[in-house]
Amino acid sequence: MGGTAVVVGGGIGGLAAAIGLRRIGWEVTVVERAAALADAGAGISLHANGLRALDVLGVGAAVRAAARPQYTGGTRTPSGRWLARMDGAALARALGTPIVGIPRAVLHGLLRDALPPRCLVVGVTVPSVDRSAPGRVRVPVGDGVLDADLVVAADGVRSRLRGGLFPGHPGPVHNGSTVLRAVTYRPVALHSDFELTWGRGTEFGHIAFADGRAEWHAVLNSPPGVRYADTLGVLRRRFGRWHDPVPALLDATRPEQVLHHDVHELATPLPSFTSDRIALLGDAAHAMTPNLGQGACQALEDAATLAAALSTEPSVAAALARYDSERRPRAQAVARAARLAGRMGQQLSHPLAVALRDTALRLAPSGATARAVLRHADWAPPALG
Ligand code: FAD
Repeated sequence: MGGTAVVVGGGIGGLAAAIGLRRIGWEVTVVERAAALADAGAGISLHANGLRALDVLGVGAAVRAAARPQYTGGTRTPSGRWLARMDGAALARALGTPIVGIPRAVLHGLLRDALPPRCLVVGVTVPSVDRSAPGRVRVPVGDGVLDADLVVAADGVRSRLRGGLFPGHPGPVHNGSTVLRAVTYRPVALHSDFELTWGRGTEFGHIAFADGRAEWHAVLNSPPGVRYADTLGVLRRRFGRWHDPVPALLDATRPEQVLHHDVHELATPLPSFTSDRIALLGDAAHAMTPNLGQGACQALEDAATLAAALSTEPSVAAALARYDSERRPRAQAVARAARLAGRMGQQLSHPLAVALRDTALRLAPSGATARAVLRHADWAPPALG
């Protein structure tokens, strides 16, 4: 079954969906509101499930080649004491691949390169879609209209399309945290590939890249909307006395490179990831807190699953029913687990709760961290028909 599709949103999820649809012979147009296709973010970890989805989409090898495997790291206290070590080699043995870290701009660029430029329309916001014609969806694009068999709503956590399809849904909510992050402008001497350090209501972490630079992120419990005139100065005061390499990462950062976002998630699960001929995908469908590093991985799973369903089912309706049944329970379970991981980890601020958390982590049997990762990363990708 071939057809025409419009993908609304050119983030990681939308581009991956477009690649999948093109691989199964569909004509695809991606419509992105930003004037240029890019990804506003620092770095990202991709677990085995995300990498397996990228393999289905045909871009796994290119992403692995540009990424840095994560073999060493774990979770520490602000003084540097290890609470849990990550055994990346054991994970790689169990899953066939280590977790990898990659600059988001590089990942986004590799996805973009897998699509012919004529598929991509930038600088156009899609306000809504018209479902009045039977068997078609009409998408206003600038002064014209694109007529499609399928629309993929990949327009992110604040998805307008989702709002139109599910007007009773409350939409995203703030989870109580704010995140500041950046990529260093030069290589930094790091002793591990990936680390998290948990304080009281705070987290500082890094992902090392193949070129020696790194992304770091700082998460703070905070009401939404709080912004700082001197962001890097505030971070130095909060984290400057934390263990090496936290101060070194801040020192290797240009102030104008620091991104600051409040964390929002779809705390109320959607009743469906589809409506008529529209599939919701990525953060539009299941925006989750970043505590498991699974949001983009789940978007990649969505993209591979959608393409597989459309390539094997006899109709768009049957394919979307399968997409919803395969994706919704899993993505929503991962979102719940991510929320819990945040509440039991970074967000704890009472000294007693923090002490209990740290003790539990320190006493956990070796392999507990790997098992926690395996729970979500061990996903069997569908085959394209
Ligand atoms: P987006 O990236 O939000 O893309 C949506 C796109 O749609 C945007 O380009 C937007 O401009 C466009 N758009 C919106 N509305 C319209 C419209 N009306 N018309 C046209 N275009 C529109 N995930 C991981 O797997 N691993 C990690 O390590 C990880 N770390 C994270 C760290 C942080 C701090 C955060 C916040 C998230 C992290 N995530 C991680 C989650 C991941 O970033 C997201 O899940 C993922 O980027 C979602 O991609 P998306 O394409 O669905 O949405």
